[in-house]
Amino acid sequence: MKISFFLKKQLSLKRTWLVFITILLLAVCSLSELTYQNTGSSQSSGTVGKGKLNNAHLLPYSGSNWRYFSPLSYYILDDAYCNSKVVHTLKGAFKRLETTLPKSTWRVMECGRQTGGKTLLHKTHQNGLSVDLMVPKKDEKGNQVRRYDWIGLWHYLLEFTDEGMLIFNASTDIDFEKLGSLILALDDAAKKNDLRIKMVILKIELKDDFYATSTGKEIKRRGIYLAKYLPDWTNRMHDDHIHVDFEVR
Ligand SMILES: [Zn+2]
Repeated sequence: MKISFFLKKQLSLKRTWLVFITILLLAVCSLSELTYQNTGSSQSSGTVGKGKLNNAHLLPYSGSNWRYFSPLSYYILDDAYCNSKVVHTLKGAFKRLETTLPKSTWRVMECGRQTGGKTLLHKTHQNGLSVDLMVPKKDEKGNQVRRYDWIGLWHYLLEFTDEGMLIFNASTDIDFEKLGSLILALDDAAKKNDLRIKMVILKIELKDDFYATSTGKEIKRRGIYLAKYLPDWTNRMHDDHIHVDFEVR
């Protein structure tokens, strides 16, 4: 009996240490984000597929109508850094959406690493001029569906049909009209920050539904380029989020 009590006590002590060490490790890993200061402006060099970023800016974790999608990606994988012009563009776009779509909230997904280069999940995103944004979703009444947004890093694994219906919930669809509003707001904010949208990636099979909306038509009219051909794997990944590449004007 005495031995069993002793063993239990030892195990409980071990568990406490394990939790303590895990919290300590997480805190150490998060230090760079918790103490990072954005100063001056950034310089991007190379391409999105082979590039670098100097004096990166860290995206804030959240704003009044938007938030970053995953603490794991933000604090541990360090993937929320981008060119200062992209940070200003995102903030400007969300500020505009606060007025035009006051009831909607938005999620920013991965940007890139502090000095650019490869990230865990992306071949591109290397020069600080790329960002992923979650597609807005709606129910049958047109109300925004937010319940899948918390899935965080694994949100990258949500799947939709070619008509934009969430595979495991037939009453949840991509809100293509709102997705268009987001891209238009980004386009306007980019111009104010000396950038232009170089390319948007959305799964090819979703584009006909997207272009059928009024905002989709405006995007076509403005000549904002949506990728026309994609490798199969890249194409299949871009149903739950869009990828946006900016370029400096
Ligand atoms: Zn991307």
